[in-house]
Amino acid sequence: MIKLLLSFSLTLLVFILPFPSVSLATESNSSVDHTVVEKHINRLLNKKIEDSRPPVPPSPKKANVYLTFDDGPNKFTTINLQTLKQYEVSGTFFFLGKHMKEHESIVKAVAKNGHYIGTHSMTHDKTKVYKNAEAFIQEINSGVSLIEQMTGHNPRLIRVPYGSKPHVTTAMQDKLIKQDYKLWDWDVDSNDWRYTDKQYKEIVKNVQLETEKAYKSGDKDIIILLHDRSQTTKALPLIIEWLQEEGYTLKTYEEERHIVQNFLRDKSL
Ligand SMILES: [Zn+2]
Repeated sequence: MIKLLLSFSLTLLVFILPFPSVSLATESNSSVDHTVVEKHINRLLNKKIEDSRPPVPPSPKKANVYLTFDDGPNKFTTINLQTLKQYEVSGTFFFLGKHMKEHESIVKAVAKNGHYIGTHSMTHDKTKVYKNAEAFIQEINSGVSLIEQMTGHNPRLIRVPYGSKPHVTTAMQDKLIKQDYKLWDWDVDSNDWRYTDKQYKEIVKNVQLETEKAYKSGDKDIIILLHDRSQTTKALPLIIEWLQEEGYTLKTYEEERHIVQNFLRDKSL
């Protein structure tokens, strides 16, 4: 009997050994089936858990917020552009003519993604931009022409380097109005340029504090100043997440719905 059993198992071994692939294939097939069933059960269970969760109440709408990015285009503009896309949010960019010439493809990508592009002058050089009213309007017009050449849109909104006050004189103001320009300063200064990459959370904190302050003072259209810089690319996802969680509506600038926001307190700008 033992002899018989031994010879039987030996025969079995002889048959199995040359075909290890057969036994392996059967094994993996059965494990696949098992995983499929397990996945299906898990899916059903998860669905049940999701269904039984109470619906999250939408946060009450607070105010419109405009994220604005100065000093680009550069490689950080591309990262900010990606972040905005990821969160399905539109921004407003104020580009420098001198950088636009080097990064035409970035300018086009920003425009194509539905963001507003305004000029931030050609040179950003204080001594050149604010030399006199003539030089000033020249810097603006050249910047606007470049945007129109590259995007097909002739933008009316500008942001001047270092803010309008105290640099923009009455003569400069008059030229802007005559040429039908609008000028934006800002409500919230992120002060992003002051920080290193590692300190990016300070930028987030500044935005949170200043935005709350603006909202509590009754501001329904809050303009936030940011830059296309490395540290800002790190802060941007956190800033957007916080704004959305708090119930702010992120918007891009709309010419047909202009909001007056300038330090000169000029209602026609
Ligand atoms: Zn600037």
